[in-house]
Order: sequence, then structure tokens, then C-alpha cells
Amino acid sequence: MSDRYAVFGNPVHHSKSPRLHGEFARRCRQELRYEAIEAPLDGFLDSVRAFVAAGGRGANVTVPFKEQAHAACRELSERAREAEAVNTLVFRADGSWYGDNTDGLGLVADLRAKGIALAGRQILVVGAGGAVRGILGPLLDEAPARLVLANRSHHKAQLLVQRFSRRGPVEAWTFEQLAGETFDLVVNGTSAGLSGTLPPLPAGLFRPGACAYDLVYGPASAAFLRWAKSSGAEAVYDGLGMLVEQAAEAFRIWRGVRPDTQGLAAWLGNETKPAIL
Ligand code: NDP
Repeated sequence: MSDRYAVFGNPVHHSKSPRLHGEFARRCRQELRYEAIEAPLDGFLDSVRAFVAAGGRGANVTVPFKEQAHAACRELSERAREAEAVNTLVFRADGSWYGDNTDGLGLVADLRAKGIALAGRQILVVGAGGAVRGILGPLLDEAPARLVLANRSHHKAQLLVQRFSRRGPVEAWTFEQLAGETFDLVVNGTSAGLSGTLPPLPAGLFRPGACAYDLVYGPASAAFLRWAKSSGAEAVYDGLGMLVEQAAEAFRIWRGVRPDTQGLAAWLGNETKPAIL
């Protein structure tokens, strides 16, 4: 019988993970099954336990269960502990769960693949939710000159700066403080695009040659990327490449082999491409 894996979320019907992991398995000649499971909002742990009892070997976890997954693990990777969120679970033979967070590594791998340098650069990250908690450590590991964090609820950005300042030069600014400042990379880590809105960013944020990256992918990223392009960003990207890379890292953790991700974002993007890209 094939090894079983799944992604747990609510909602999860939109997930591209089953397609992605099916393709990884094909490329790596591995025999496995991967499905999407919508856990009830008040029944995440029961749902995962039932999957483990039925032979599940590992799982991905998405909104809104990453914090619950973190709390349920006996052992955590350093990056999952730091992010206080788990997106990859390994179910061990002794019944314990190991948790990791591959989101930040996924973003950095995608930026690297796109030729976007981070060392010595000025980076702005907008947002302070679960996804931003996952990317801050890996971004700071790339030694930017400065990483500025701006969030609608300023105190959340301040809390993250307290937690991550030992890792590198990170500062919490209000949106008003951004006026007149410029950056090499602006990362939208908010979920604003999902409701068709934009974070209140001032004009003139982009240095010559600067890039914009939205963690959100598909049509929901269009408003931010259109704004970035018209505000002077030289290149704009949605989060599809990050999605592919974080999934490849989860596959490596489970199967011990990292799949070749070449061309997969474009392959997935055929059904999600925002009109302006
Ligand atoms: P959270 O709900 O934890 O956080 C949402 C963040 O967005 C908060 O900082 C919130 O601010 C901010 N926000 C929401 N609406 C607005 C708005 N209208 N204006 C300004 N700020 C706003 O979500 P996550 O951090 O888990 O996820 C963020 C996005 O990243 C999601 O859309 C998700 O799809 C995407 N993502 C993509 C991945 C990929 O692989 N490409 C991986 C993981 C996530 P406040 O604190 O003030 O409420």
C-alpha cells in the first residue's frame, strides 16, 4: 500500500498541494498518496489523529491550524519553534509528532531562483501574521542591511521585532514612517489581497531595480502587484514560487529527496495567473 500524506485546512478545497505532491512523486519515482482533508474548525486534532490511525505518514497544515499543529508536536525544528507555527508534520513510529515550518525557506529559495539578492539590501515586509512569523528568520539569515516590518496593528510588528532582533537588523515602523523611505524589496505578507484591498503604503517606496513580492498568489495578488508596478517596482511576483518551494522542502523532510521544482510554478500558474503578470 502507498504511503499516505495529506494537507489539513479549512477551507482546503482550493489547495494545490495534492497536484504538487503528485508531480513531485512522479518526478522522484516515489509511490505515495496525497489528499486534501478539510478538518472541522473545532476538530483539527481529531481529524489528524484519525488520519494517523489510518496509516498517515505526514501532513501539511494550512490556515487556520498552524498554531494548533505547533502546540501538538513533541519535537519542533528551530524555525517552527521561532515561528510558533507548523506547516509540516511527521508522524513517528512511537506515536509522537515532529513539526517543521518550511514557509520561510520556500520564500528564500524562490527569491534566489529569481535572482533577487537579499544580502546588504533594504527589505520591507508588510504584515505580522502567521506567514510573516515564518519568513522573518530565514530572511534575516540572508544578512539584509535592514528589514523593516510594518503592520496595520503596529503592536504585533513590535512583538515580532522583540522576538527576532537577535537574528538580525529588524525594526517595526508605522505606515506613516514609511513616507520618503525606499527599499530594494517589498514583500506583502498581509491577507489584504484576499478581500481585494491594499495595505496603506505610500508612493515612492521602490528604489531603482527594486522588486515587489506578494505571498498571496493568483488573482488575489493582482491589486498589490499592479500598485507596485505603477509605483516603480521593476519586477513583481506572486507567491506561487514560494508555494512550490515550501512544498518541495516538506517532500524532502518526508521522503529524503528534494524534487526538482523547475517549471512547476508556471505549470500551476496556468490556472491561477493574475491578469497583469
Ligand atoms: P494572518 O491572518 O495570520 O495575518 C494576516 C495579516 O494581514 C495581518 O498582519 C493583518 O494585519 C494583515 N491584514 C489583513 N487585511 C489587511 C488589510 N486590509 N490592510 C492591511 N493589513 C491587513 O494570515 P497569514 O499570515 O497566515 O497569511 C497571510 C497571507 O500569506 C495569506 O493570504 C496566505 O494565503 C499567504 N501565504 C502564502 C504562502 C505561500 O506559500 N505563497 C504560505 C503562507 C501564507 P493585522 O495584524 O492588523 O490584523
